[in-house]
Amino acid sequence: MGSGSRHRYHVLVIGGGPAGMAAAARAAACGVRVGIVDDNFGLGGQIWRGATAGEIPEARRWMESAQSVNIAVLCGMRVFDQPETGVLLAEGIDDTHELHYDKLIVATGSRERFLPFPGWTLPNVLGAGGLQAMVKCGLPIHGKRVIVAGTGPLLLAVAAYLRKRGAQILMSCEQASVTALARFAVTLLRHSGKIIQGMQLKKELARVPFATSCWPLAVQGNQVLESVRIVRSGKVETLACDYLACGFHLVPNTELATLLGCQLENGYVRTDDFQRTSIPEVFCAGGPTGIGGVELSLVEGQIAGYAAGGRTAEARELFGERKKLRQFARALERTFQLRPELRGLASPETIVCRCEDVPYSCLRHHDSWRAAKLRTRCGMGPCQGRVCGPVTQFLFRWNPDSVRPPIFPVRVESLAATAGASDPVHQEVTGGH
Ligand SMILES: Cc1cc2nc3c(=O)[nH]c(=O)nc-3n(C[C@H](O)[C@H](O)[C@H](O)COP(=O)(O)OP(=O)(O)OC[C@H]3O[C@@H](n4cnc5c(N)ncnc54)[C@H](O)[C@@H]3O)c2cc1C
Repeated sequence: MGSGSRHRYHVLVIGGGPAGMAAAARAAACGVRVGIVDDNFGLGGQIWRGATAGEIPEARRWMESAQSVNIAVLCGMRVFDQPETGVLLAEGIDDTHELHYDKLIVATGSRERFLPFPGWTLPNVLGAGGLQAMVKCGLPIHGKRVIVAGTGPLLLAVAAYLRKRGAQILMSCEQASVTALARFAVTLLRHSGKIIQGMQLKKELARVPFATSCWPLAVQGNQVLESVRIVRSGKVETLACDYLACGFHLVPNTELATLLGCQLENGYVRTDDFQRTSIPEVFCAGGPTGIGGVELSLVEGQIAGYAAGGRTAEARELFGERKKLRQFARALERTFQLRPELRGLASPETIVCRCEDVPYSCLRHHDSWRAAKLRTRCGMGPCQGRVCGPVTQFLFRWNPDSVRPPIFPVRVESLAATAGASDPVHQEVTGGH
């Protein structure tokens, strides 16, 4: 494999979001050597990436704790395979690295769920979190007309963020009904922190129209998005805009855990009280175990970190807090479940698999994900089904297939490393960075 290096840690954490940072910080507090890997160039994950983190005291605190002396921070590295038990391979900018662990904490987060509708592949139709990430990385949004659409609390967070950066938010379209949202509001009464966040968002989005039972039907434009046709409580209207920021809640990133052999339950990684998966040396926290927001990720991460570091008493003290936050996660799932009408948005020509250009008409006759993959190449492009997998699961009720390495597209040299793992030519790196 060339000049790759070998790293050894007692506790290795994959994912540098809130769950991963909390896990690394607590494992390090147990006095063991810890490594934390993330494929971005800095820690923070989806919510605290880049410049945003500096503005939020809580984010700054966790980042500082996750970069303490006995933690090696390995950013810009993506884990893509486990050639043998206790060893992972990660691809960096120009090298492949062998990561050895005694205990592993998988904190790989979640991603947005997209649904296809006519025109959804036009430029300037973006994932809500995706547009937010682009703005965080410098995309100018000042004065642009943005429609935010889909489902879930992320839409409001994104709308508020974009508005703060000067975007004109024309409308926030939420597919959930007003009744479902009213029930959700009652649940919030048990979570004072969430009420405060909700009030803050309401203030930040004052005078922005918020429509319930509302979703995009189609996007029009010549080469680039020009307008969006939406349905609002049964009535169709067309709105001209510059960007459509669209996402239908989140789906867990379970690929790495699945590759390691961890069992899933209802689509999430199954864990015990100590966040231990069905593989005894592997723990999991945050997005892959359930979609519950940043607070739940932080608590699960801390429990996993303490448990992996051997301090189960400290982990146990956090069980009560986690129980409460999981109730909130269940309420999120109930409230923002997709309505069946959304299954009818795609026309026969609408592309479902964007990587391989596979339209809806080529898929609907198949009876499984595997059959569709074999006959149409759906899910076989660079995203490896991360976008069209959840789409077809919703549209056709197909179950996703098993996961095969590499779990991300990698360079040929990195593939060669799979065969050469544990080869003595690797340079050994053991200390913290
Ligand atoms: C696009 C997007 C934007 C979001 N924006 C907001 C927001 O503005 N406000 C809000 O409250 N919530 C937001 N969320 C939800 C938020 O992510 C969760 O509430 C929670 O913070 C998740 O924390 P986590 O640590 O579990 O995961 P994440 O924060 O997702 O962190 C997981 C990290 O693991 C990395 N990773 C995954 N696989 C690998 C691998 N194989 N190798 C190396 N690294 C890997 C990922 O790149 C990521 O940095 C967003 C979610 C998404 C998907």
